[in-house]
Amino acid sequence: MSSIRFDGGKVSLLLITVFIIMVIIIKNSHTLQRFLVSQEIRFSTAQYEIASTAHFDVKYLPIDEAYVPMVAAVAEDARQSVSEMFGKQPPERTTLIIYPDSASLARSFGWNKNARAMGVYWGGSIRILSPAEWLKEPSQEVFVRQGPVYHEYAHLMVDEVTRGNYSRWLTEGVAQYVEKRLTGFEFASPAARDGEFTLYSLRQMDKDFDALEESVAYWQSLKIVEYIAGRYGEGAVWQILRDLGDGYQLDGAVEKTLGLSYERFEEELFVFLEKEWTRRCKI
Ligand SMILES: [Zn+2]
Repeated sequence: MSSIRFDGGKVSLLLITVFIIMVIIIKNSHTLQRFLVSQEIRFSTAQYEIASTAHFDVKYLPIDEAYVPMVAAVAEDARQSVSEMFGKQPPERTTLIIYPDSASLARSFGWNKNARAMGVYWGGSIRILSPAEWLKEPSQEVFVRQGPVYHEYAHLMVDEVTRGNYSRWLTEGVAQYVEKRLTGFEFASPAARDGEFTLYSLRQMDKDFDALEESVAYWQSLKIVEYIAGRYGEGAVWQILRDLGDGYQLDGAVEKTLGLSYERFEEELFVFLEKEWTRRCKI
């Protein structure tokens, strides 16, 4: 077998080529992730029917056919109203998959933990649990208010605006904020239920969101976004997302938009959160 000799010039050319390819992949990882997810969906839902509306490809099994017009109408409304709040043009087309039961929805993203989820946003597409599983009577009003579509579409817009540069708590906070504004839905406060004082630091929220007590972590996410919108104006929330889209880290985006250090922001935020928590405990 003949040996291959690398002289210095060839090795550095190879390294430079690998480096350039890596930079291209990292810079386009958001686009690449979306492409991979769309390919995975094509493969895993090949047996699903497709109903195409103005801006959605709704994939479903025949058992859920009766729900497709309602889901599609609500999705179109969510696209319009959610993107208006963000002040950004939404994507032209989105795939929305209706899974017939919780098990198939959970299996679709390989996640046992959140088997109770009614909807999931991942890589540009929205997956929802069939309304047949939880809607007692076929009411579009109830589906709008209690269903996952506005919430998941808000996750999609966060992903769009930030180009994938966001933390879990921020997207959960913004999605709940948008959902509450547009549909009135809000989870019950965990403070009213157990009263115990357990707030997480921003660092814990950033690093371990999925390991935290879910109801507290979600409640706190919403309250942080409400705090920013209430104290600095809703425009500050959208500006922070745009800054993330420009490549800022969250602390830099907060400092730039709100005009104070991240540490000072956290101090002021916690004064607000403690008040909110105590107020809720008294209700
Ligand atoms: Zn969510």
